[in-house]
Amino acid sequence: EEINLEVFAQNIVDAFQLKYPDYDLQLEVGVVKTFRSDPVLLSSLFYNLIENAYKYSPAGTKYLKISIFKRKKNMVFIFKDKGIGIAKEELKNIFEKFYRIQNRYNQQGSVGLGLAFCKELVTFMNGSISVKSKPGKGSVFEISLPA
Ligand code: ATP
Ligand code: MG
Repeated sequence: EEINLEVFAQNIVDAFQLKYPDYDLQLEVGVVKTFRSDPVLLSSLFYNLIENAYKYSPAGTKYLKISIFKRKKNMVFIFKDKGIGIAKEELKNIFEKFYRIQNRYNQQGSVGLGLAFCKELVTFMNGSISVKSKPGKGSVFEISLPA
């Protein structure tokens, strides 16, 4: 169905803002604001990435900027945080099922399935997901879906 990305993303952001008042969530939507997709699948991607950015950011640095824009024939979703980051040698592992990086941030409630699920979902939707990260600086997850 036709999704109004601005309304869709703002609703998700608002829900997380209520759940996590200390979360600084920024949203930026480009000129093309409608996207034909399944809102249930798309929101699952958002939930996992928004939850991760919160969980893997130290108190006081819980920030996420979500940017949505059209690039060629794709809709691009960028999730940029200021969290703990991910070591270079771990980047290839984090989309594996049950893979978690052992640290104090995932001691309470972490299964290691969120990103594996995102990867499967994105593949099912004929898109792609990638990550760039600097330990101690933050991470950028990018999802590209055919528009
Ligand atoms: P689940 O999502 O199943 O509750 P999880 O968050 O540990 O558990 P994933 O979402 O698959 O699992 O993430 C895998 C691992 O990648 C995490 O354990 C964490 O170490 C790392 N990771 C994921 N997102 C981030 C992020 N934004 N910043 C830093 N590390 C991250
Ligand atoms: Mg997760």
